[in-house]
Amino acid sequence: MCPVSLTGHWGSGRFHLSDTAFIRTYDIARFNLALYFVWLAQWSVDSMSAFNRPVRRALTSEERALLEWLIANGNPDAKQYAPQLAGTKVVGLCTCGCPTLDLAIGDRKERTIGSSHVLAEFDGSTAEGVQVRVILDAREEQISELEVIAIDDFEGVFNLPLIASLRR
Ligand SMILES: [Zn+2]
Repeated sequence: MCPVSLTGHWGSGRFHLSDTAFIRTYDIARFNLALYFVWLAQWSVDSMSAFNRPVRRALTSEERALLEWLIANGNPDAKQYAPQLAGTKVVGLCTCGCPTLDLAIGDRKERTIGSSHVLAEFDGSTAEGVQVRVILDAREEQISELEVIAIDDFEGVFNLPLIASLRR
């Protein structure tokens, strides 16, 4: 909006914006709104999934056993992360039905968000018979996420893969 033309209208006793000024204002507002949604979409992709539900709890014994196994059997540098396991907590859950976990060390309330470093990647199957890929990620040199992805686009609730089923 141009403040000079606005003053001019007020100065001449007209209290409405001209059509042109109104359309210009509307276009700018619409453009800013579009920018905001682009930013919001980028933010949600970058910082956390739209399916993420924050929690704060200890690992279950099943989760701990899987993480220990992935670190022991994963990529060569995965074992360096073994000392972090004792302080690893669950800080986010996926709400889509998959058992993907956001993980954080110590007092952190959210997982680290830098670029992902894969510590282990295996295929396996769950107790429900769902074929899954499981990926343990570190970010910023901290254990950050346990991703469990249904290979065949399974929709519904499923659990972690059985350790005995895991193959590279
Ligand atoms: Zn999910």
